[in-house]
Amino acid sequence: MEQEAQRVLVVLAHPDDPEFFCGATLAKWARAGAMIHYLLLTCGDKGSDDPAMTPEDLCADRQTEQRAAAQVIGARDVIFLTYKDGELFNTLDVRRAIVREIRRLKPHRVVTSDPLTYIRPNANINHTDHRTAGAATLDAIFPAAGNRMYFPELLREGLAPHTVKEIWLSLTSEPNTWVMVNDTLEIKLAALHEHRSQIKKPDELDRRIRERLRRADFDGEVYTEGFRVIRP
Ligand SMILES: [Zn+2]
Repeated sequence: MEQEAQRVLVVLAHPDDPEFFCGATLAKWARAGAMIHYLLLTCGDKGSDDPAMTPEDLCADRQTEQRAAAQVIGARDVIFLTYKDGELFNTLDVRRAIVREIRRLKPHRVVTSDPLTYIRPNANINHTDHRTAGAATLDAIFPAAGNRMYFPELLREGLAPHTVKEIWLSLTSEPNTWVMVNDTLEIKLAALHEHRSQIKKPDELDRRIRERLRRADFDGEVYTEGFRVIRP
């Protein structure tokens, strides 16, 4: 990876989204020397059907799991915004929080989820938070992060405008870039296993992920993760 592309900010809705959507690619970049930061907008506090579980306990568990998974991937740190799961909206507050991290971390590349995906490539309904995370992130990148007239309160925090060069949309129905992840597929799976509260049958999950990432149009075993890459 070229030098300037080494700062990467991943903005997604829930703990486990980075690993599920693009974990093998992130692991590949981390091993090539990228400094990867996660910004997660909710703490996934509705991700349980256990009647004894409370949102507060689940939030704490999932943050612990996410930190462990990020370590397996090779990400530097995880920032949590703790909006409520399923209640994420593309508000000025959410955008300001994303702009703050963009201006603070100055990423060359931002990874988020495609806000246009109502139906996922696997034919399931896409979670509203995934769409919202993508929309709020795109709105934060342009025009707000690079324009000093947006969020003047951030200037007073010492955060100067910053322009993101590349946007990588995961969970997209219109990929234009495929990353070959044969070398880091196992790391993705190992990181996913850290999300213990979410994964009931690890072996079944591994089989499903391998199936989903395997390319039928190549000879031999080729695994990829797809993105819609935009260079605004
Ligand atoms: Zn999610």
